[in-house]
Amino acid sequence: MVLATERSLPRVPQLVTPLPGPRAQALIARDRAVTSPSYTRDYPLVVRRGEGCMLEDVDGNVFLDLTAGIAVTATGHAHPVVVEAIQQQAAQLLHMSGTDFYYEPMAELAENLAARAPFPAVTDGPRARVFFSNSGAESNEGALKLARYATRRPQIVAFLGAFHGRTYGAMSLTGSKAVQRAGFGPLVPGVTHIPYGTHAALDYLEASLFPATLPPEEVAAIVVEPIQGEGGYIVPEDGFHARIRQICDRHGILMVVDEVQAGMGRTGRLFAIEHWGVEPDIVTLAKGIASGLPLGAILARPHLMTWPPGSHATTFGGNPVACAAANATLRLLDAGLIVNAERMGEVLATGLAELAARHPHVSPPRGKGLMLAVDLRDADGQLDRDRRNRVVDRAFYEGLLLLGCGKAAIRFCPPLVIDAEQIRAALAILDRVLASV
Ligand code: PLP
Repeated sequence: MVLATERSLPRVPQLVTPLPGPRAQALIARDRAVTSPSYTRDYPLVVRRGEGCMLEDVDGNVFLDLTAGIAVTATGHAHPVVVEAIQQQAAQLLHMSGTDFYYEPMAELAENLAARAPFPAVTDGPRARVFFSNSGAESNEGALKLARYATRRPQIVAFLGAFHGRTYGAMSLTGSKAVQRAGFGPLVPGVTHIPYGTHAALDYLEASLFPATLPPEEVAAIVVEPIQGEGGYIVPEDGFHARIRQICDRHGILMVVDEVQAGMGRTGRLFAIEHWGVEPDIVTLAKGIASGLPLGAILARPHLMTWPPGSHATTFGGNPVACAAANATLRLLDAGLIVNAERMGEVLATGLAELAARHPHVSPPRGKGLMLAVDLRDADGQLDRDRRNRVVDRAFYEGLLLLGCGKAAIRFCPPLVIDAEQIRAALAILDRVLASV
């Protein structure tokens, strides 16, 4: 499979104006005058077009993108196969609402996802039922409703540092940053947050919370990210997910795994939870599923998704164009991109480990596949958010697009089409930036 999908853009950064260029400055001024101040634009990138791992701004500057639009464009920017699927579907049918009507792209995508769901095989039917939404938050919102509906229990356990979205239910599960909650209360009741990723946290849940304040027979679900994303690309301790599964089995609690950021091949498996061989009850998806078109999904074991007609639906969820993009995305993931994510993840992790060995303020990398992060530290070894921000900012001015996450981490979540040459180019820029910050 040919991975490089850059057709007319160079495959390494090329800056032709000081940044931001004149057109970028003009657009930013227009945008700032009228858009919500709640957006968090870190550096002044004004994108015009993208191909593969490369983005061109409105002034003709070309950047190497290790953000994939916040871990979304799994197949790269404007992959020709995805674009063709979108164009064909758009010319045929833009919308008819899967809530009330049937069309093939939605049924086909549900079949594809159900066949691949990380659930036990079922002898007499698909291994999952699928509900389509428009975003990660909406998928988690629906999963929260489904968990309560299926168990008729009110309580939910979620994790500190977790990010599940910003609508009320999803925000109530989120335990990431105070600014995401401050001033918005009251939230959805019944959510208890515990620390993420350690057996000590699960000891606390079982030995302290269950007997004292949180009767397990009232808990509907434990909602967990396989690798914590916005929280810092935190990989949990060995056995963490297996132990959550055991706790759920012991008490009739549902295990809900949020694969919105880690899923769709990014970690070298279609679903990140497959790394641990654990079978959840419900999985939520969005981001990479349709290579950039808005789409989310809830996968549930079939005996759980029994809510009646009208109990949960959404006009745009499962839009035919988004489903066509997702079907094409899945074909490309299977045709080599999941394997590439694993291989290129090793190349990137090796390169980051070498950088960490040379730059004392950089931690060794953590993560799986193309979901990797390093922390930035100060001279005393403390996490250094300012230094992280300076690195991300300076990298932009060198033509390399990065994103932060957690307290002081840089995350690396490139399109899964990235190749070794582009990784080498990115590491060379990062090396220079780290030396200068
Ligand atoms: N869940 C996880 C793990 C995420 O990383 C995100 C977004 O970053 C969401 C949910 C929310 O997705 P959306 O922004 O599409 O609502």
